[in-house]
Amino acid sequence: MKTYDKLIFELSRPGRKGYSLPADKFATDGMATIPTDLLRKSEPELPEVSELEVVRHYTNLSNKNFGVDTGFYPLGSCTMKYNPKINEELSNLTAFTSLHPLQSEKSVQGALELYWNLQRMLSNIAGLAEFTLNPYAGAHGELTGLMVMRQYHLSRGDNKRTKVIVPNSAHGTNPASAMVAGLEVVEVKSKPNGSIDVEDLRPLLDDTVAGIMMTNPNTLGMFETEILEIAKLVHDAGGLLYYDGANLNPLLGKVRPGDMGFDIMHINLHKTFSTPHGGGGPGSGPVGVAEHLVEFLPNPRVKKNDDGSFSITGNEASLGSVSTFLGNFGVMMRAYAYILTLGKENIKNVGPLATLNANYIKESLKDDYLLPIEGVCKHEFVFDGLKDKSTGVTTLNVAKRLLDYGFHAPTIYFPLLFHESMMIEPTETESKETLDEFIEVMKKVAKEARETPDDVKNAPLTTIVRKLDETTAAKNPILSYKALKETSK
Ligand SMILES: *Cc1c(COP(=O)(O)O)cnc(C)c1O
Repeated sequence: MKTYDKLIFELSRPGRKGYSLPADKFATDGMATIPTDLLRKSEPELPEVSELEVVRHYTNLSNKNFGVDTGFYPLGSCTMKYNPKINEELSNLTAFTSLHPLQSEKSVQGALELYWNLQRMLSNIAGLAEFTLNPYAGAHGELTGLMVMRQYHLSRGDNKRTKVIVPNSAHGTNPASAMVAGLEVVEVKSKPNGSIDVEDLRPLLDDTVAGIMMTNPNTLGMFETEILEIAKLVHDAGGLLYYDGANLNPLLGKVRPGDMGFDIMHINLHKTFSTPHGGGGPGSGPVGVAEHLVEFLPNPRVKKNDDGSFSITGNEASLGSVSTFLGNFGVMMRAYAYILTLGKENIKNVGPLATLNANYIKESLKDDYLLPIEGVCKHEFVFDGLKDKSTGVTTLNVAKRLLDYGFHAPTIYFPLLFHESMMIEPTETESKETLDEFIEVMKKVAKEARETPDDVKNAPLTTIVRKLDETTAAKNPILSYKALKETSK
């Protein structure tokens, strides 16, 4: 239990406090309004500390965190790009934060206009007719989109379509969402370069297929060049195409999923559109659809009236409701600010820069790390561990060693197509100097792996908490310092 020692603290001292309240007033007026049977019987067990101790405690804790604002964060499939502070400032405007969802339509016209405008911007970016911004996350968007798919087939009396085709390289949420939507998952194989095997797809397409879920570029960062043929095959069989647009970065302003033949998609505002994410914070997973599916989008909807005003409406044919009210408005505000800041012209630079950065790292490191798929990638790529595996250093070891050098680890052991996957996504917001530092450290770790492998295998050596027993951490989580004190006795 030694590694816990530094984490155990007891700052509380009886009688110490960091506030002053008019005691007599609270004792009489305040308490009088609470029925006695609802009053607590014993004092709450709160830490007794001064204001300065609280400030130092939380400041020191926050300094132990790693985030995009503290260092390079090349987590593949997560798009940890910089979140401009102007987004925060605008989303904190009290005119918006003090709104209540039950206010009259007339009194929230500005908020509805923002919702409607953002919806239109996403439609333009995606090449789809309309968006709902109601879903709370990417996976929630997938579920919503698949419900649209199901609703569409049912509305035509086409009740047999219960299967969804998902590539074996897909993000784990894809098959999970299909199951939750009550659909059956059928796997289609990938070719060695990660793209869909059209010959494997062909025989799967019959009148029980509701649709296919794909992402393009695929999970290995490679563009699906046969997408137009795939779209034709699926449509000819009566199915729909779903696009997992969680990571839209490489295509932003350049290529539109709607033009590739996709009928439904979701976008993660908390990835591509630069709103903070991680740690289970608020997200937003807007869903866009082609014209023939608009009526099935979830309620409530925001409509622009002929006189330029906005209304909250609903649709009879809708799949129902997937959220309370209109979703996570604060996240939408950040995305709106981000899109307006970039503008129509600059947004086109995001994809090429993200792609350039990814290829720069890939080419610089492929002598030390095993690159299973050669060629130009899009915004991210995958190494299959170290090229020289003779000393037994694994991808997990490399990831932990990076922490010692002040970098966040890449995504590891995903996708499942390789044993030692290491998925790197630098994003467009990093400078060449940062990329060079990362490349240097990755090369240094590869050298250590050859010459002093124990340094890498025992990493991290410099972090507050060393290597965790991940099974115990998951099965027996210690969630408070009191429990920690008990455990370490
Ligand atoms: C992140 C991600 C998702 C899921 O998004 P959440 O907001 O975490 O639910 C789905 N698909 C892909 C490809 C992703 O990268």
